[in-house]
Amino acid sequence: MTEQCSPCKQLHIFEYSNNVKIIIHIDSLALGNAIGGTRMLPYDSVESAIQDVKKLSSAMSLKAAIHGLNQGGGKCVIFNPEKLHFNEIAPLYTSALNQLAGSFIAANDMGISIKMINDIRHLSPFLISSNQLIDDPSYFTALGVFHCIQYITKNHLDTTIPNIKIQGLGRSGAPLCKMLLDSGFKVSAYDIKVSHVEQFKKHPNFSALDETNWFSLPCDIFAPCASGNVITNSNVHLINSKFVCGTANNPCENMAVINTLHSHHIQFIPDFVSNGGGLIYAAGTYHQLSRKEIIDKIKNIPKLISKLSCSSSNMYVNALSIANEKISSFVNES
Ligand code: NAD
Repeated sequence: MTEQCSPCKQLHIFEYSNNVKIIIHIDSLALGNAIGGTRMLPYDSVESAIQDVKKLSSAMSLKAAIHGLNQGGGKCVIFNPEKLHFNEIAPLYTSALNQLAGSFIAANDMGISIKMINDIRHLSPFLISSNQLIDDPSYFTALGVFHCIQYITKNHLDTTIPNIKIQGLGRSGAPLCKMLLDSGFKVSAYDIKVSHVEQFKKHPNFSALDETNWFSLPCDIFAPCASGNVITNSNVHLINSKFVCGTANNPCENMAVINTLHSHHIQFIPDFVSNGGGLIYAAGTYHQLSRKEIIDKIKNIPKLISKLSCSSSNMYVNALSIANEKISSFVNES
């Protein structure tokens, strides 16, 4: 089933047996073919999977535009209520990608590892690893956030060794934690999986936080690196940091939360700015840029922060308007 939601947006739902659905949402093709990850999480309903894919794909359009990539935004979620192994689903998934004929280029995301994508690269030319085996983009996502944190520390904090609090030490949070500790930052972290925290416990600059109070403990920079919607209308008043800058997509529940952070003088670095490193790596590798070219682009992410903080309105609003302007100016030109 394909639904044309608006002139640019397309929702494609490919249905298979065992109630498996490959759901691909293309949010925008204005700047180029859409690129984005594939998620396989236990969704409660098809409707919640569709809501997730729409929200995530629109963030991908903004991310590609703000980072100057000639890509549109898209995302795929796999609805898999019977928990079939990915190997069973892979031929359906790649056939769905092939039917879209390159309007969507797929990467990995939560529930799908880069190994799973590398292992099936022969089945579709529309996987980010189709041209070459690729590394996990998560490292590059973490690298972008690391450079943002370094920039904030140098330009906006009155301490040289700030306290960074991380939620989630998974594929992006763990490398971020390691980069920060290796560079002399103090890091505290909370993860629901104790084993993810264990690896850092011996480091003298690391402290493990527990479930009961991790959220409200003060820090200079809070780095949400787990799932989205962690800062909500009901807990935003507990945030005790000067900055929020992490890898998580949509860490704020809604715009009201973002506005509350701003009014409390807590600077929220827009997620689609801070976490763009993985997309820059994925798109760059697909287009066969060198590693140095990719890393140089990622090191430039903090320049966006200075651009966004030059007016009194909040950075998120400024970032939205820059990204949307880029997308719409291209649509108007063509
Ligand atoms: P992941 O699944 O590898 O890691 C998430 C970690 O958070 C896990 O260790 C998990 O145990 C922990 N966690 C889950 N719920 C938690 C909770 N309530 N409290 C504390 N810890 C919790 O995921 P990831 O790839 O690192 O992605 C994390 C976030 O960053 C997601 O929102 C993802 O969409 C976003 N993101 C990731 C990338 C990337 O390249 N990996 C790129 C852009 C955005």
